[in-house]
Amino acid sequence: MTTVRQVQFSDNTIGEEEVAAVTDVLTSRWLSAGKVTRRFERAFADALGVPDAVAVSNGTAALHVALATLGVGPGDEVVMPSLTFVAGAAMTTLLGARPVFADVRSEHDLTVDPDAVEALLTDRTKAVIAMHYSGFSADMPKLRAMTADRGVALVEDAAHAPLVLTDSGMLGTIGDVGCFSFYATKNITTGEGGLVVGNNEARLAASRRMRSHHMTSATWDRHQGGALSYDVTALGMNYRPTEIASAIGTVQLSRLDADRKRRLAITTRYRELLAGRPGLVIPFGDRDLVTEDSALHLFVVLLPEGVDRTDVREALRQRGVPTSVHYPPTHQLSFYRGTTVTDLPVTDRVAGRLLTLPLHARMSDEDVDYVANELRSVLATR
Ligand SMILES: *Cc1c(COP(=O)(O)O)cnc(C)c1O
Repeated sequence: MTTVRQVQFSDNTIGEEEVAAVTDVLTSRWLSAGKVTRRFERAFADALGVPDAVAVSNGTAALHVALATLGVGPGDEVVMPSLTFVAGAAMTTLLGARPVFADVRSEHDLTVDPDAVEALLTDRTKAVIAMHYSGFSADMPKLRAMTADRGVALVEDAAHAPLVLTDSGMLGTIGDVGCFSFYATKNITTGEGGLVVGNNEARLAASRRMRSHHMTSATWDRHQGGALSYDVTALGMNYRPTEIASAIGTVQLSRLDADRKRRLAITTRYRELLAGRPGLVIPFGDRDLVTEDSALHLFVVLLPEGVDRTDVREALRQRGVPTSVHYPPTHQLSFYRGTTVTDLPVTDRVAGRLLTLPLHARMSDEDVDYVANELRSVLATR
């Protein structure tokens, strides 16, 4: 047996600059959403090339705000891939609407299939959620045209895809509303955090109010002596980020280019080392990583058919290689079972074969070689 190395599944790029930025916030003694958050919003909006953005407490909150400000409510349907994180389905359900699950395109492209989406549109469809799986763009030209034709809103769950410029524009800014997450494992992290952008000024203003109980003035303004009282004009939440999180996010944003370069090197290396393994599929493997921009958030493979994933994961774990699964399809989760009326053949076929390998900017080439070799050797005996 080879010497066991312990590879870390995920890590972040937090360094001294984040520590200094947090120290500045603590020293200022104003910790809730205020001017540091405003600066973060402006920096993120500038990077995306849009006029403004609203930072919130997490990506799930971003989806809630997005759907709520689009008017999603009881009786409505929201079409989304089943193969994504449960947050979109949960927020749809919370609003009294029904999540409708669409299939993904193929084992080579795990984003939602526009033809499947089209087949599911009804008079009740209020919105479609596209998710840029592992950082690769969903088919935005088709989804944009189809939803615009039908007067259906298009939401981008861009949790995997911060600052990805495609032929159609920056991911998150192509649909009506874009949602980002800064959870611990994401390419930009603030511990917990999220952000909403959108193409409609009034809706973005409503998002900002919904973040803070739909009050007509913010605590920060009152603290500044700018407003004496407030009214509440709609149902709101407390989805405010802290200044601590926003300070971290502002620095993290500046690290994204370097982070992506490292992710590109790792992804390229993984692809080379795993190419030609019989039955092993590398989704998005035909997308040219140089011309095709992607946030390269995750490195996902499909195990050969008939291989026991639990067994492979356990063998890898023992060799110091942690893995994950993105995602257990939503329609197979207990709470959502029975929601689906249509078959999801591709999703069902790939679900049990999905395996996410370690990928983060602090990974060394030796770690990548080790993970790829261990996976090959584990598969060789199965
Ligand atoms: C992380 C994630 C979310 C939720 O974001 P949180 O910040 O964890 O609430 C939603 N959708 C996708 C695809 C995600 O990866």
